[in-house]
Amino acid sequence: MQRKAIEDYREIVGDEYIASIFKKARKLYGKHILHVNSTYQGGGVAEILVSLVPLLNNIGISTGWRILHGTPDFFTITKKIHNALQGEKINLSKIKKILYRETVKDFSIYTHIHHDCVIIHDNQPLPLIEFYNKRQPWIWRCHVDLSAPQKELWDFLLPFILRYDKVIVSNKNCKRKGLPVEQKIIHPAIDPLSPKNKELSNNDIKKYLKKNNIPTDKPLITQISRFDKWKDPLGVVDIFKLVRKKVDCRLVLCGGMATDDPEGIKICEQVRCKTDKMVKNGDVIIITTENNILVNILQRVSSVIIQKSLREGFGLTVAEALWKERPVVASKIGGIPLQIKDGESGFLLDPKDKQGFADRIVQILRDPKLAKKLGKNGKKNIKENFLITRLISDHLDCLDELITCK
Ligand code: UDP
Repeated sequence: MQRKAIEDYREIVGDEYIASIFKKARKLYGKHILHVNSTYQGGGVAEILVSLVPLLNNIGISTGWRILHGTPDFFTITKKIHNALQGEKINLSKIKKILYRETVKDFSIYTHIHHDCVIIHDNQPLPLIEFYNKRQPWIWRCHVDLSAPQKELWDFLLPFILRYDKVIVSNKNCKRKGLPVEQKIIHPAIDPLSPKNKELSNNDIKKYLKKNNIPTDKPLITQISRFDKWKDPLGVVDIFKLVRKKVDCRLVLCGGMATDDPEGIKICEQVRCKTDKMVKNGDVIIITTENNILVNILQRVSSVIIQKSLREGFGLTVAEALWKERPVVASKIGGIPLQIKDGESGFLLDPKDKQGFADRIVQILRDPKLAKKLGKNGKKNIKENFLITRLISDHLDCLDELITCK
């Protein structure tokens, strides 16, 4: 893949915006920044870092990226922590706590940190801060909703979090009330030039669809999401059954497996059991391979994109679909309402309201003019607010506050 330079975005955001990024970067020359997360691929965090880290280097900010090495046991625990941060019960045994901390401690032994600022993503590497003599600001960038964590888990994590200089969350509803560490909001963003979002030729689209056995003789309804209970793929199947009573169509569930998400296989199995017959007769297509171009294509050729999350920090998949001018029907939770204005640039629903989801999908399938209007308005909002250039700009402000204005 050809590496992108910030100037490549001129046509999309304009020269003034590019110049303003360089102006902000100037204050940070000579600084060395480190990002740490737990996977190179799968899920929104990796998606953002893949674009953000090279572009920061491109504008002159030395930015490194390290991946925490964990065992399957470690990732089983961190997935439980991820779920409990969003309110689910957890049996936080002593052995789990030890394994969590010790794995991170082992990683610290060969992870030498001499940077000017360290940014830790999500819960997996959160305890890392404990194992260094702190000599620079540390940021905890939490991508999940922190508003109502399970209490016992929060009590366990709080001593780590208190050591941080700033916590960044994805939207105002994700903040943790009463946390005495400054909480800043930075909305995530998509990269319009990445393989997942770039324009594609009709020829390429046709070729990929054929190669992946995806027919387009009927409208496609698609959800692109890890097989995760918070993304509710089983609920999507129920909605599809309701839609099918009114309009003939196909459902595509596309969910690659993230290496730090061990629950994916189990949830995917549940979906396969529930859709067995429909998969056999071609009404439901399940895709588990990780393929950015295929995601791009599915988001372009689907008649409706659905995002039926039960919890969501931001929901990059919504921005990706809107960027491609697709109508999206999604849950009114987390960062999704920032991206969709109900009735204008998509439809928002209570995640429990399956009939409501189905009705809106049917309405879009029957009204191509409405579909076009929703998609067009959706793209405008993403262009103005949720592109990687804006994320870089916010990121530079945040670093400036912590490093140069300390
Ligand atoms: N994704 C993907 N392939 C899949 C499923 C998801 O590439 O099969 C990507 C999706 O396009 C998006 C990211 O993973 O870029 C998911 O980010 P989001 O914020 O929607 O959810 P998260 O997984 O971080 O909870």
